[in-house]
Amino acid sequence: MKHSVPQPVINIIEALNEAGFESYAVGGCVRDLILGRIPKDWDVTTNATPEKIIELFPDSFYENEFGTVGVKVERFLATTDPSHEHDIIEVTTYRTESHYEDKRRPNTVNFTLSLKEDLARRDFTINAIAYGPGKTDEWEIIDPFNGQEDLKNKIIRTVGNPEERLNEDALRLMRAIRFYAELRDPKETRPTHSWQIEAKTLEAIRKLSGNLEAVSQERIRDELSKIILSTSPKEGIEMLHQTNLLRFILPELEIGIGVTQNLHHIYTVWEHNLRALATCPSPKLETRLATLLHDVGKPHTKKGDGYRSTFYNHDHVGARITEKMLTRLRFPKAVVAKATLLVDNHLFYYNVDEVTEASVRRLVKRVGLENMDDLMAVRIGDRLGSGVPKAKPYKLRHLEYMIEKVSRDPLSVKMLAIRGTDLITDLAIPAGPKIGAILDVLLAEVIEDPSLNTREALLKRAEALKASDIATLRAQAEEKIEEKKSEEDKAIKKRHWVE
Ligand code: ATP
Ligand code: MG
Repeated sequence: MKHSVPQPVINIIEALNEAGFESYAVGGCVRDLILGRIPKDWDVTTNATPEKIIELFPDSFYENEFGTVGVKVERFLATTDPSHEHDIIEVTTYRTESHYEDKRRPNTVNFTLSLKEDLARRDFTINAIAYGPGKTDEWEIIDPFNGQEDLKNKIIRTVGNPEERLNEDALRLMRAIRFYAELRDPKETRPTHSWQIEAKTLEAIRKLSGNLEAVSQERIRDELSKIILSTSPKEGIEMLHQTNLLRFILPELEIGIGVTQNLHHIYTVWEHNLRALATCPSPKLETRLATLLHDVGKPHTKKGDGYRSTFYNHDHVGARITEKMLTRLRFPKAVVAKATLLVDNHLFYYNVDEVTEASVRRLVKRVGLENMDDLMAVRIGDRLGSGVPKAKPYKLRHLEYMIEKVSRDPLSVKMLAIRGTDLITDLAIPAGPKIGAILDVLLAEVIEDPSLNTREALLKRAEALKASDIATLRAQAEEKIEEKKSEEDKAIKKRHWVE
């Protein structure tokens, strides 16, 4: 397993070891290593004090008031922004975190000399495994709470008494469900082979769900985002609902429970929102949020019942609700604006034979060209999550083709290296329709051979065209330009698989 530990991490652990301290990789990175996943970040734990750690690594600094030291190393994580030169490895001194007065953060940190005590303060058994050189030089796994067995059996279980441990820190309620959504295999359909939250832990989450009210919106937002970006976002949200946590996070979504729909749907509003999220092809947070919330306005706009019920205006009502929800959860302004825009526009009408270029142009103008892919992703989720797929994929491909067609730069005389005024001043051609006709011929020839697009060559060619009459010039130009336009159109169609 050691060969899977990145060299910068090995260097830190072995440097501490050579200086006479114990030192281990710990937490999520060891969990991921055993599971064969690529860790997002690496944490090191040691019995060296923060002062000693700082002394050993010249490129290190205090990360917070709890004595966590960040050691700067050369970039090795795949997820780091390419503009950053360094990655940070967090090194913490063994600690027991005891006094939780507000169910949020410990207000004191006590260092300890015992690795076991440090592992005991961690949230779940699968996160309480250490890996590093022991008393000898051999690397070994230290696992006093049988985290490896829980990893094997796919069980999320608190270290120690669930009620006590979850009561200490209410964020753990959400972390349990976040790990559930991140770890479970979406393709595994056999319940006995899938990840589970251990019964007593699950029961305690439900019992203590109200504690989530004490957690800041920012910390809730961060865990919610991880659930939504996970490989099982639908199951994650369902688990939040089952454990009574969702009412403190997205109560507006739960209003859709049991709200039946019309002939275009076989699922309730709640089930449909979740299925749309599950099938949304976008990896972006704002697009996934929009997909989850796209029909959140439906319960408020439903008229009638059964197959004929209607939901007029649910897109706009839903957009207002989305904006309120995401603002409350302190999502960045840009995320709120984007998700709101997508919900607001998710109903756009598209039918291959009926929709004109002009209406597609209006849609692109309203939504913004840069948002069209995301709007399409919401729509794909909406379609696949309805249970009654209506729009065929062909329709969306055709729309993509239309979008590119209406949004590309039109072939125009503006591409030329000279202007009409140049013909008037340099060649003494009188102002009038002939100027336009000559420019059209020049454009036609430049399309054919872009190397002709220099001021010199164009002026020379214009001089030669000067004597022709307007009708001849127009005929000469049109043929070429139309031919080129239809060639480009074919290429775009091919790109979008549209015949
Ligand atoms: P990720 O894959 O998201 O990085 P992680 O398990 O590494 O998951 P971190 O938030 O990076 O989670 O925390 C690192 C480790 O610190 C955890 O594995 C766990 O041992 C411990 N830990 C983090 N947050 C808590 C908490 N709220 N309560 C107890 N232990 C925690
Ligand atoms: Mg981590």
